[in-house]
Amino acid sequence: MHIVRNDTVEVLAGNYRGKAGKVLSVMPKKGQIIVEGVNYVWRHIRPSPKNPQGGRIQKEAPINASKVLVICQNKDCKRNGKGVRTRNKLGEGATKIRVCVKCDKPIAAPVER
Ligand SMILES: [Zn+2]
Repeated sequence: MHIVRNDTVEVLAGNYRGKAGKVLSVMPKKGQIIVEGVNYVWRHIRPSPKNPQGGRIQKEAPINASKVLVICQNKDCKRNGKGVRTRNKLGEGATKIRVCVKCDKPIAAPVER
């Protein structure tokens, strides 16, 4: 999949089209991701010790990964600040790096946790 956790992505389709957000979680087997602030649904919460009243909260639901593109952060790129397709390129040694198809610069590696 072309998305990893903590990427900043642009949504291309659906009600949240045009919105950008951080990727909170990735489910490669399902091809789905959860993006911060995208695809809110109401969830009904049963009363629990932590939340004695129960109630309803808004939470992000998964969307299909094919509906988003990673945003290129390279300032010289024509598509800077917009979604770009990515490709894998051989880096130093035998490592693979993700690069922007337009400018061929690496997509800024997301900070782990
Ligand atoms: Zn680029």
